[in-house]
Amino acid sequence: MTAQRPRADEPPLAEHELTALWLTGRVPAEALPWPLLRAGRAGRGPGPDVREATFLRNGVPVVGDVEVHLRASDLARHGHLEDLAYAQVILHLVWQDDRPAPARGTPASLPLGATAPTVAVGPLLGLRPARVRALLARGPSGRPPCHEFARGGVDDLQRAVRREGQRRLAERAWQAGALAVAHGWAEAWSRLLDRALAKSAGRHAEGPAARAGLAEAITTALLVRQTTVARALTALAVDRPRLVEALRADGRLGLARAGEVAWNAALPLLIALATAYADADLAQRTARLAASWPAPRPYGRTEALEAALVAGGDAPRAALRSGGGALWQQGLLHLQDLWCSRGGCGVCPLSAPVSLELTPPTAARALAISAN
Ligand code: SF4
Repeated sequence: MTAQRPRADEPPLAEHELTALWLTGRVPAEALPWPLLRAGRAGRGPGPDVREATFLRNGVPVVGDVEVHLRASDLARHGHLEDLAYAQVILHLVWQDDRPAPARGTPASLPLGATAPTVAVGPLLGLRPARVRALLARGPSGRPPCHEFARGGVDDLQRAVRREGQRRLAERAWQAGALAVAHGWAEAWSRLLDRALAKSAGRHAEGPAARAGLAEAITTALLVRQTTVARALTALAVDRPRLVEALRADGRLGLARAGEVAWNAALPLLIALATAYADADLAQRTARLAASWPAPRPYGRTEALEAALVAGGDAPRAALRSGGGALWQQGLLHLQDLWCSRGGCGVCPLSAPVSLELTPPTAARALAISAN
């Protein structure tokens, strides 16, 4: 294989452009070993460039990561062969396969003895970076099956995603109840609080001792109000600002973090309490709280799914986010965890069945597409 030779007036291709070609669904379908159901989402931080792409392999949806390099030999050069973070890679997308024969064209070797097909896109595009840029300029191509759901109307979409958010909250409440059965309500609160503080700490997470100090301050502040945490939270489950403020431990927690702790620890415990004591009044109050809880900051993890669901750019997305509140965000997370990351395209609650009769790839069609 010859080295990449862009024309003198063409800047060389950058790896992020090849990743963008993948994420926008512009890699010619016929170049791929299996039909693509979902391009996946951009990887953040260390690990593969694309997470949770879904293919239809032998009629069965399979999910895996996609690693992108300009040259096939970069996989070894970048030290990924021994890195377990790359064990789930299902496809190695490269501009050129520069490995010498007989390795050229063979699957890439991965940690734990796994392998992944190597797909070289450059030759299909005449080794011209300009053609990659021209394809990128066309914008995203292809959408997962849930994209069609949005055509039924924004209200239906918002309702369906919020329903998924309610399911996620119900699962949390079930876990809180199970903790209480095993350890009692005080210990259940203590464990939920510790987890919520750890999850909401962000980049500058405090150590375990400092976190325990924060948890103690929050619990002590609740116990000043009532004799038990359960009673204090029940009394506060009337309006969200009061509940959140009570969890700030005299300002030691910011408003946003206290809101996360309230959602992830207090609300599940309150719903579990309402269920355990058949307290209809508390159940209604917590349901109202959850339904009107405002949306937190958007999650990077659900960015690609939200973009697929909501066509038309940033404004409709912002409107759906603010109108959908926390249940919208939680619903996206629920879909992502339960379906998108497990090959759920075609069977998840938001998708129409996918055809299992997709045209098999052919090199001729690949060349025809790439020439357009
Ligand atoms: S699993 Fe469902 S929600 Fe997720 S991308 Fe596929 S069709 Fe969309």
